[in-house]
Amino acid sequence: MMKARDTIRHAGKRKQLVDLLVKKGIQNKAVLAAINAIPRHLFMDSSFEDHAYQDKAFPIAADQTISQPYTVAFQSALLEVQRGDKVLEIGTGSGYQTAVLCELGVKVYSIERQHELFRKTKTFLTKLGYRPKYLSFGDGYKGLEEYAPYDGIIVTAGAPYVPKPLLSQLAIGGRLVIPVGDDPQIMTLFVRTSETEYQKREYGEFRFVPLLEDKN
Ligand code: SAH
Repeated sequence: MMKARDTIRHAGKRKQLVDLLVKKGIQNKAVLAAINAIPRHLFMDSSFEDHAYQDKAFPIAADQTISQPYTVAFQSALLEVQRGDKVLEIGTGSGYQTAVLCELGVKVYSIERQHELFRKTKTFLTKLGYRPKYLSFGDGYKGLEEYAPYDGIIVTAGAPYVPKPLLSQLAIGGRLVIPVGDDPQIMTLFVRTSETEYQKREYGEFRFVPLLEDKN
């Protein structure tokens, strides 16, 4: 499974990617350090290895994509997590965003609806030494009630609307980062300010693969 290694050459390219993200406006030091630490080339097909540190999304298995590093950094920064926080990710995919959250020192719960990706990524993250608390094979529209509430919820696919369970599974003070709409999506932040109230802020256009509704 581990087809390539991490080398000084990869580390050099990674540093250049981090410099580019800083130029594009990412300021969160912990997020930049995470991106600087994670061998992104190992999260994608080896045929893309030479391009792994470009600021681009790439295809992974099951017609899905590994998100663009800028998008990963932007969403991770919006979450404003502290070490030890509990975070739910919707759309495990390649596991790259999961790894960023692990590097940030949070307890990660992540849901993936494609069985092939769920299985591959679970094995892969373990091999790489990342230890999310729980990887779930299921439907992200429902969230993950058993472990709620969460300090942060991050959705890594485009949601046609905001699923109610995700709002209700936020802790008071918790933050939901979700791209909403068809194509493109508007990056949207909800902060839960009380049992019944949420503050909403919008952060411009991004492009994601769709958050798919259950087939049945
Ligand atoms: N965070 C991932 C992004 C993958 S793309 C990465 O960095 O690689 C979005 C992912 O969301 C895909 O893996 C897709 O299968 C998954 N997805 C789509 N609809 C979903 C749903 N309803 N529940 C959970 N995951 C879903």
